[in-house]
Amino acid sequence: PLVPGNAAQGPGSVPIYKDPSQPVDVRLEDLLSRMSLDEKLGQMTQIERTVANISIIRNHYIGSVLSGGGSVPSPHATPLLWADMVDSMQTAALNTRLGIPLIYGIDAVHGHNNVHGATIFPHNVGLGATRDPELVRRIGEATAVEVRATGIPYAFAPCVAVCRDPRWGRCYESYGEDPHLVSNMTKVILGLQGTPPQSYPPNEPYVAGSSNVVACAKHYVGDGGTTHGIDENNTVASYSELHNIHMLPYYKAVADGVASIMISYSSWNGVKMSGNKFLISDMLKQRMGFKGFTISDWEALDRITDPPGSDYNYSINVAINAGLDMVMVPYNFEDFIYYTRNQVISGQINGRRIDDAVRRILRVKFIAGLFEKPMADRNLSDKVGSPEHRDIAREAVRKSLVLLKNGKDASKPMLPLNKNVRRILVAGRHGNDIGLQCGGWTIEWQGESGNVTAGTTILEGIKGKVGAEAEVVYEAAVPEAGVVAKGGYDYAIVVVGEEPYAEFHGDDDNLTVPEDGRRMIERVCREVECVVVLVSGRPLAVGRHLGEVGALVAAWLPGTEGGGVAEVLFGEYDFQGKSPRTWFKSVDQLPMNVGDPHYDPLFPHGFGLITGIGRIG
Ligand code: BGC
Repeated sequence: PLVPGNAAQGPGSVPIYKDPSQPVDVRLEDLLSRMSLDEKLGQMTQIERTVANISIIRNHYIGSVLSGGGSVPSPHATPLLWADMVDSMQTAALNTRLGIPLIYGIDAVHGHNNVHGATIFPHNVGLGATRDPELVRRIGEATAVEVRATGIPYAFAPCVAVCRDPRWGRCYESYGEDPHLVSNMTKVILGLQGTPPQSYPPNEPYVAGSSNVVACAKHYVGDGGTTHGIDENNTVASYSELHNIHMLPYYKAVADGVASIMISYSSWNGVKMSGNKFLISDMLKQRMGFKGFTISDWEALDRITDPPGSDYNYSINVAINAGLDMVMVPYNFEDFIYYTRNQVISGQINGRRIDDAVRRILRVKFIAGLFEKPMADRNLSDKVGSPEHRDIAREAVRKSLVLLKNGKDASKPMLPLNKNVRRILVAGRHGNDIGLQCGGWTIEWQGESGNVTAGTTILEGIKGKVGAEAEVVYEAAVPEAGVVAKGGYDYAIVVVGEEPYAEFHGDDDNLTVPEDGRRMIERVCREVECVVVLVSGRPLAVGRHLGEVGALVAAWLPGTEGGGVAEVLFGEYDFQGKSPRTWFKSVDQLPMNVGDPHYDPLFPHGFGLITGIGRIG
């Protein structure tokens, strides 16, 4: 069907699906009616940037491309270089028979974290500590602008996992252990995608404009509930536990119009989520009324290995029939398309299921305006790492700090610290290292220590706050015994914590402060009054040091704006953070979450002292 007398090319020349004045459903049905099976399967296929050359995109009608963690066009690539790369792929897609735009996706999980120079916000655990959904919405908004500035309209965020065991290597990607807290924090979606107007139909995917992105709530469902916190593993739970704890945030996300949802690698009671028709099709799509598209996790189909002896054909069959719409097949896309095509032809996968998947994907592409504005907006490039965005990040850092102890003797608080000092010591590698304070999912998938991107270290922030007369001495390595005592320091700020990690690499049974950090605390805090600032994605066992330290602060993984830490330590702002996680006394207690019958924490969920001095905000 053509639109009569519509476009400049003359009467009847513009197909209905290309006419923005037509309703989305009308455009959608028109487009679907024109598509071949191969064109449909291409829409369901998401491939990795490194294999996405122009001929592959054209020949396979590829619908989506992604950057996996750390997959960048070149080190230190500028926003415009990113935009050029994405646009060249988009041009290839637009040059296919039907000219359906592709959607490029990336893990922007704490800001646009693959991009050098972008604003890196605190990881979600720190945002959970802020208890400030409106702040989190603004972070989503700023992140969307930075992502869009690189030509990318799709972010694999937010992670709405309810992490129930901090031994899990992704615990820092979770806003907390309390499902209600996580649900409140899904407000980030209204920042990423924009806030739908009052009149907008509930559950309808929403993307406000070309400074917003398609969001992706992940990983549905139960990713944060696996036994012993083992990544991608099995969540043993009754249906009501699964529903009331892990599914809760998805109700909110769906009601707010989240446009996509990633299906978890994990299993529920032994059944892989990627093949769970009840939870994907019946619960998420039917009962909750999710109208966007589902996407698999990276190579998730290859990980469906139950029952034993099952092959790739089987995996495709269960996953597509369960309700997966877009499939992340970074490299093995030819097999995916080939086997799926055969199954559709033979009737093992019903053509109506394919149409449903393609409708959902195209619907989001229409709603996101990709048919009208498929190319990058180069005017946004100066927003990447802009001062306005860094201000929001610094505010988030300030609000995320949790004060766990203040003063060896509570009647003599150590914080806020005195600025008018003669000489102070800042000790520990984490005190002057952007990479360590950003954690995993920063430039590299696993993150990396060192000067990985632009920002302010905690040390730099401290130097900017103390009086002009003060000398700030920095020691990265543990000093010899007696050296600190002889230094004549007014006090020390010891910054220690975890090394960066992501996903299963971070699974950890011990959860102690790593060795050099422990030695640093012991050495320094015995010789001078000290505040310990912990840089970590989760609570660590600190019990045995508590007596030694003057004050203890959880800074989580603050991101690039380490200056926020000094603003609070020196009392310009008060502490406001409330721990989104229970601090265990010993790892033997895990899992232990707020509301559990034998709850015996070191610091309970929600704990956070204030000094009573300084502004709030
Ligand atoms: C992770 C996802 C991520 C995807 C794409 C997977 O390994 O589990 O959270 O979105 O990779 O990078």
